[in-house]
Amino acid sequence: MKIAVLPGDGIGTEIVAEAVKVLNVLDLDFEMETAPVGGAAYEAHGHPLPESTLNLAKQADAILFGAVGDWKYDKLDRPLRPEQAILGLRKHLGLFANFRPAICYEQLTHASSLKPELVAGLDILIIRELTGDIYFGQPRGRRTATDGHFPGAEEAFDTMRYSRPEIERIAHVAFQAARKRSKRVTSVDKANVLETFQFWKDVVTEVGREYPDVELDHMYVDNAAMQLVKAPKRFDVVVTGNMFGDILSDEAAMLTGSIGMLPSASLNAQNQGLYEPSHGSAPDIAGQGVANPLATILSAAMMLRFSLDQPEAADRIESAVRQVLAQGLRTADIHSEGTTQVGTRDMGDAVVAAITKTTIKS
Ligand code: NAD
Repeated sequence: MKIAVLPGDGIGTEIVAEAVKVLNVLDLDFEMETAPVGGAAYEAHGHPLPESTLNLAKQADAILFGAVGDWKYDKLDRPLRPEQAILGLRKHLGLFANFRPAICYEQLTHASSLKPELVAGLDILIIRELTGDIYFGQPRGRRTATDGHFPGAEEAFDTMRYSRPEIERIAHVAFQAARKRSKRVTSVDKANVLETFQFWKDVVTEVGREYPDVELDHMYVDNAAMQLVKAPKRFDVVVTGNMFGDILSDEAAMLTGSIGMLPSASLNAQNQGLYEPSHGSAPDIAGQGVANPLATILSAAMMLRFSLDQPEAADRIESAVRQVLAQGLRTADIHSEGTTQVGTRDMGDAVVAAITKTTIKS
């Protein structure tokens, strides 16, 4: 098994170092190779996703990714900006299924912006289609309007589109994921207004007939946004398109308190995947040793489960994270009265210690 390690920029290097430390203590048989990506790769090779990094990613079974981006690159031409590296990896590896769990840990319910009783025990899995929809649909651009409310005016436009196979494959991913959980899927659409999402709804319904053991319901995206803050525990697996998923997964992330706790996975049809925390490179705290490494450590656990077929090792990491939270250890972003504030490295060390202790006991 080969893991491509792409730390990236800002806190990326600090948090990935902790995840690598955790992976190493598991004593599994895999090879890890590191390469620059994002701004770091632009500095070293003049491109955010150099050929050598892309080739490493293609050959690997899984990619452990930190984060990319820094304000200082905002003036570069768009194709050279660090964030383009993620889009490039998604495109070249065909990573069409994005998994974003939103789990509210018992010890962190107070960090949520919602009342504790609404989020205690929350465990949602948002599955977002990642390579289609209005983000990629052609044509797009700027032109002079020939019709509409202001003919002759300058206008911009994008194209929302989904093909049947694109919807079918993400629907299968969602139903299969639900089978491993509480067998409920909510498909989010805007079928009342958009042709694309009436089609989405029809195709998801058809695919759902192949999974009679999984309960399927449909919800309009505006209602889903409302229900996520009103009664988030009503959801289990949520499947939706690229744009709605982008927005709803960030909303769900906030229900759990800190973005520093949330892992994510993007998979292709061969289960090859890119695993990264849901947050960015946090330039405001980079280099200070205060970033929360748990989202990245939990992303490594997802990698073991989904791409490397090591579910027991994934369980060990997740249980070690619960243990360090139970011990009262917190990085600054999740710190509260009565808990012990620790830095990035100490948090990584505590997870390693919890894993080692469990290993010795068992
Ligand atoms: P961000 O997620 O980097 O940071 C938002 C806020 O959350 C900041 O205050 C930051 O300090 C805090 N934060 C984020 N991760 C944290 C952690 N692990 N521990 C503690 N606090 C944490 O989002 P932003 O500030 O909007 O963007 C910063 C840069 O990251 C930009 O260049 C942006 O384009 C990029 N970005 C990259 C990715 C990615 O690599 N996948 C995703 C989002 C943003």
